[in-house]
Amino acid sequence: MASYHFKCKDIGMSCDYHVSAKKPDDLIPQIAQHAKDAHSIDEVSDDLKQKINSAIKKKIF
Ligand SMILES: [Zn+2]
Repeated sequence: MASYHFKCKDIGMSCDYHVSAKKPDDLIPQIAQHAKDAHSIDEVSDDLKQKINSAIKKKIF
């Protein structure tokens, strides 16, 4: 079974936020919500989305 992990630190934020999900698509809305709450980023731009996608790591258990 695979899971996908994202750390805010991996896109250069000094932030300990970490989120995981079974599908990468499930991560994006949670990351977008966090970006809004914690970093005042109202809209995730295509640039940022690309950064996030490349920072998402797949783990297989
Ligand atoms: Zn963060």
